[in-house]
Amino acid sequence: MAQPAHGWTAYVGVGSNLDSPQDQVEQAISAITLIEGCFLVAKSSLYRSAPMGPSDQPDFINAVVAVLTLLDPRTLLAKLQEIEQDHGRVRDGERWGPRTLDLDLLMHGTAVIEEPGLTLPHPGIAMRNFVLLPFAEIASDVVVPQLTDVATLAQRIGTSEPAIEKLAL
Ligand code: AMP
Repeated sequence: MAQPAHGWTAYVGVGSNLDSPQDQVEQAISAITLIEGCFLVAKSSLYRSAPMGPSDQPDFINAVVAVLTLLDPRTLLAKLQEIEQDHGRVRDGERWGPRTLDLDLLMHGTAVIEEPGLTLPHPGIAMRNFVLLPFAEIASDVVVPQLTDVATLAQRIGTSEPAIEKLAL
């Protein structure tokens, strides 16, 4: 893949609903800023949403960040997965417990990729208000390849399913 001289703009979705989710999300964003070859260019507010499916679990906290990156999509995803491993899992005896942190590579430039282990744009974007609302806050005019602009996607999905609120700064 050709690398533009200035790198690519990539968008990363950050989510957690365990172990102080707000701290998990903030720490994950800090870790993303420390990835070599990545430069944070925008960070959304944090959003709280009700869990989908079983409701006997804590609310989710989500955010989206934009990075300017010199890393190709696979390398960047591998770095994000390292952060998930470092920050996002809890020990449960000898087994790894549930993930407390989910990092999704939402977009990487205009890349359209469908390979084992990597789909771009991330296939869940258009179905998730907890991705689209923070995404629209920092990149409303960006066009998601094969879809439309983020603002339009966010308007279509609305704020009720799941119920979602923007947290005060
Ligand atoms: P999940 O933990 O449910 O987000 O799924 C993680 C799995 O999705 C991993 O095996 C990844 O390789 C795969 N995957 C495919 N495309 C993406 C993407 N754009 N961002 C994050 N994970 C992805």
